[in-house]
Amino acid sequence: MIQLQSKLPNAGTTIFTTMSVLAQQHNAINLGQGFPDYSMSEELIALVNEAMKGGHNQYIHMNGYIPLRETLAEKTEYLYGANINPDTQITVTPGGTYALYTALTTILQPHDEVIVFEPAYDSYIPGIEINGAKAITIPLTFPEYKIDWSEVRKRLTEKTRAIMINSPHNPSGAVLSVDDIEQLRSIVKDTQIVIISDEVYEHLIFDGFKHESILKYPDLLERSFVCFSFGKVYHCTGWKLGYCIAPEYLMKEFRKIHQFNAFTCDTPKQIALATFLKKREAYVELGAFLQQKRDYFQQGMKETKLEALPTHGSYFQIYSYKNLSDESEKEFAIHLTKNYGVATIPVAAFYQREINNRVLRFCFSKKEETLDVAIERLMKL
Ligand code: PMP
Ligand code: GLN
Repeated sequence: MIQLQSKLPNAGTTIFTTMSVLAQQHNAINLGQGFPDYSMSEELIALVNEAMKGGHNQYIHMNGYIPLRETLAEKTEYLYGANINPDTQITVTPGGTYALYTALTTILQPHDEVIVFEPAYDSYIPGIEINGAKAITIPLTFPEYKIDWSEVRKRLTEKTRAIMINSPHNPSGAVLSVDDIEQLRSIVKDTQIVIISDEVYEHLIFDGFKHESILKYPDLLERSFVCFSFGKVYHCTGWKLGYCIAPEYLMKEFRKIHQFNAFTCDTPKQIALATFLKKREAYVELGAFLQQKRDYFQQGMKETKLEALPTHGSYFQIYSYKNLSDESEKEFAIHLTKNYGVATIPVAAFYQREINNRVLRFCFSKKEETLDVAIERLMKL
């Protein structure tokens, strides 16, 4: 056996895979891992077919299909008033996770520190540690899942290289406000801190909330990598396609890493998206579509003993089981999967520290009939 020193000694299999496998084994309704079970746009599928049949099956430009980048720049201007150069500031990536990882790899040197808010999407901390840097974790307030900015100020050091933010937030569905942006702005002003903004749920926002994209704030964009996922918003998570927007000087370095890693992404899908995204209905109606699912799920769940925490965006809704059990979140999630046939995600899995708020994350981006069966089963709790 070759001696191998693990780059990620503390990492196991992700909770998403663990719960999806358990769901399959127990024939449970899978409200764990975040993916829709309804079909994606037929028009988009037809556009991909057309591109493949038209012979577009070879490598495409390493930074992304140029008309797609142009369409994204137009969309970004329409939604956020941002003036983005598609040639120098946008790179298409194989998914949002890859964009985040590449951004971290672009900026981090050993011993740098990155501020991460917990609960944190599970790829952030490994992405930091694999680069020899250190995650400084700050818990979001419970149960509102808000950032305690005074705590952020206390945890800044000479080594702070970046702050990672995520809105709409996975797993809580919390969204950042204008006030949060102001706080962030005053903290990073006159520092060397880079912002990595995970905006993969950009359009999945409810209740009249506005997405406070970093792209709306030119002074913040000047020091940011903003990461997106086509898979998450267009109901095709298996496509693993996303993109990153950054100022030219940061994107130049990002692309050096990208060119020796993925180099380029799926050609037919990029060609299809370039046409599909020209129509604004492709994205402006997504929030209302998902909000309807959230409302449907919340309404049905009122018949159960689980208590809803607010959610204003993403695919997810957190429920508290504090009336039902003192078990750890992981134990309770396993219990629900095995004995009640509904798989969820323990929110504790998004923390490095030991925590038990007795809450589970449910993914409601499902067909109504799927949600109905899950609710019926949970009513027996
Ligand atoms: N960030 C967050 C918060 C997510 O929930 C996801 C979901 N997978 C991603 C990034 C990554 O998206 P992708 O599948 O495009 O890599
Ligand atoms: N983002 C998805 C979630 O939070 C999972 C993606 C994955 O399995 N890595 O459920």
